[in-house]
Amino acid sequence: MPHPNGTPGTPATHLLPSYLQADKLGAWGNYLRQVDRVTPYLGHLARWVETLKRPKRSLIVDVPIHMDDGTIAHFEGYRVQHNTSRGPGKGGVRFHQDVTLSEVMALSAWMSIKNAAVNVPYGGAKGGIRVDPKQLSLGELERLTRRYTSEIGIIIGPSKDIPAPDVNTNEQIMAWMMDTYSMNEGATATGVVTGKPVDLGGSLGRREATGRGVFTVGVEAAHHIGLKIEGARVAVQGFGNVGGIAGKLFAEAGARVVAVQDHTGSIHREAGLDVPALLAHVKETGGVDGFAGADRLDNEAFWGVDCEILIPAALEGQITSANAGRIKARMVIEGANGPTTTEADDILQDNGVLVIPDVIANAGGVTVSYFEWVQDFSSFFWSEDEINARLVRIMKEAFAGIWQVAQEHKVTVRTATFIVACQRILHAREMRGLYP
Ligand code: NAD
Repeated sequence: MPHPNGTPGTPATHLLPSYLQADKLGAWGNYLRQVDRVTPYLGHLARWVETLKRPKRSLIVDVPIHMDDGTIAHFEGYRVQHNTSRGPGKGGVRFHQDVTLSEVMALSAWMSIKNAAVNVPYGGAKGGIRVDPKQLSLGELERLTRRYTSEIGIIIGPSKDIPAPDVNTNEQIMAWMMDTYSMNEGATATGVVTGKPVDLGGSLGRREATGRGVFTVGVEAAHHIGLKIEGARVAVQGFGNVGGIAGKLFAEAGARVVAVQDHTGSIHREAGLDVPALLAHVKETGGVDGFAGADRLDNEAFWGVDCEILIPAALEGQITSANAGRIKARMVIEGANGPTTTEADDILQDNGVLVIPDVIANAGGVTVSYFEWVQDFSSFFWSEDEINARLVRIMKEAFAGIWQVAQEHKVTVRTATFIVACQRILHAREMRGLYP
């Protein structure tokens, strides 16, 4: 019997340049193993699969800025365009002290898969700066953002590669990026980034889109396994843009958010947390720690909390072989990118936990980013109801197609999503042919 995740194979690392082998066990290694698992299902398109194992273009930039104290600091920035077979690169920019080239490569690759999974006309890209932005003043953050944008300006553009927010980047940073690119071009180019403020060509509903997509796909999946949302207990790791909104929507639908973990700690309340009050507390204090309406929970104990739905919505590599066996949820919905290692994925599968993978679960953000880009091009803006309705329709249709593939091939939802996405990408690659 083949494993339901496909045929686990050793990544063909001997074929890869050395810099692609450097971090086999990190996020990039995780991605390579996911591609290997799907290769047996790609039929004649498998001959193109190496395309997916090598980012098309990787740029490392030095970002020097004047600090407020008069010194000059240098930061390392990246922009990786993993694949552009189906359209321009698209993916967020992360400001985090642990960002590395290989992490950005993995995130850019998952963007290729995600964009193909929901069938938006983009390839995959991602960027980042190795910095803890919380240590910078607002002025330093603006100078950092502008210099980084200028440095990657040679490869981004509305029809080339369109950045967006990710961890620790927001609407303000997108506004600075748009302005910097526009200044260098000599014309306002709103379509160069998405996730902008609504008054600057941003889209209504963009801020909530990823969380809304997590919720939409979660409800569909719950239906398939006979899990009722009303009364279901939900645990959320990461209570920022994605986790906060997803938690709020689940609570509004009658679920009980019983546990939340963020970088400040973990909290628990069996009767259900007051989500709007918790969101207000996080906004005010910067984290969930110290929230009056809950008990403190040990960070490790968070993973073993009694719940039906677990939503990792923080960083990658959080569900590992060390904690996967303790997870009691019936369903894990990946709000974060790459939160589950391949080993943990297998443990969850063996324990009968349904995993709805990042590459479909959190695709709501890029879907509304696509709407934003379309609206910017046509300079015609849609109502929030229209946006949410289109978002829900795309997410439901994409998920239904993927669910069907999972049933047909008796594979996990992750492998099914990779099958659908890799076929679309490699079919486009084949039709375009190789240049020259
Ligand atoms: P965010 O900065 O708004 O929130 C991040 C959250 O993670 C915060 O609550 C933070 O406290 C928590 N966190 C950070 N380090 C942690 C740790 N070590 N342990 C526990 N919690 C920790 O970021 P976001 O936009 O919500 O993104 C979260 C994840 O979702 C990322 O993986 C991101 O790539 C992914 N994602 C975001 C979007 C989007 O539209 N924002 C779209 C798709 C995927």
